[in-house]
Amino acid sequence: MSIKNKITEYREKLRKYDTRLIAVSKTKPNEDLLQAYETGQRDFGENKVQELARKAEELPKDINWHMIGHLQRNKVKYIAPFVQLIHSVDSPRLATEINKQALKNNRSIACLLQVYIADEETKFGFSEDELFDFLTSDEFGNLKNIKVTGLMGMATNTDNREQIRSEFANLKRISDRIASQINNDQVSMEELSMGMTSDYVIACEEGSTMVRIGSAIFGSRNYPTPQNTQA
Ligand SMILES: *Cc1c(COP(=O)(O)O)cnc(C)c1O
Repeated sequence: MSIKNKITEYREKLRKYDTRLIAVSKTKPNEDLLQAYETGQRDFGENKVQELARKAEELPKDINWHMIGHLQRNKVKYIAPFVQLIHSVDSPRLATEINKQALKNNRSIACLLQVYIADEETKFGFSEDELFDFLTSDEFGNLKNIKVTGLMGMATNTDNREQIRSEFANLKRISDRIASQINNDQVSMEELSMGMTSDYVIACEEGSTMVRIGSAIFGSRNYPTPQNTQA
């Protein structure tokens, strides 16, 4: 099936959940993204800064670029002028750097805080306690050029569907807890970025607002699992 058919099919499948599709186009050539674009897809996710910046330069300007991979602080500056949403903010130091670059670009950058929900050491993210400590800190209060619009999480890479479900349910619970306990203009829990090719249905059932789907649309990639790829 063509990319066009697949992406249309996935958007159709997601309709009943009210979940947005972020088309994860990492490693794929511009032509593949353009095929998706022609069906009306505007949200694309990449996990490497250089690749994201290059594609943003070469492709239509009305694409919304989502940074979904582990982000190194020294690379924030390359995407700060235009990035739509950074899903992978996994430390206070990274948030501080994003704020600094947002200020330089005279804009506010929307961020999701990545939460560690999996049973895997290779994954990044805040623990629940670290999240609350950060969101209630003076340090966070000073970051006026970022907005935290939700959370992102990756479930364990396992065949155990119940484990995946409980990890996503846990992320949803943390999001609800922040929504009810943190009263701050810089924080809103509108988005829950969870679910990829193998687990998006469970994620949708557990309240995802954005799924990040790559291989089901663009075909398999020739490089390893997302959690050990560096930005
Ligand atoms: C690659 C990647 C995805 C998409 O994975 P697929 O299994 O190809 O759908 C989702 N999220 C992140 C963070 C990724 O790096």
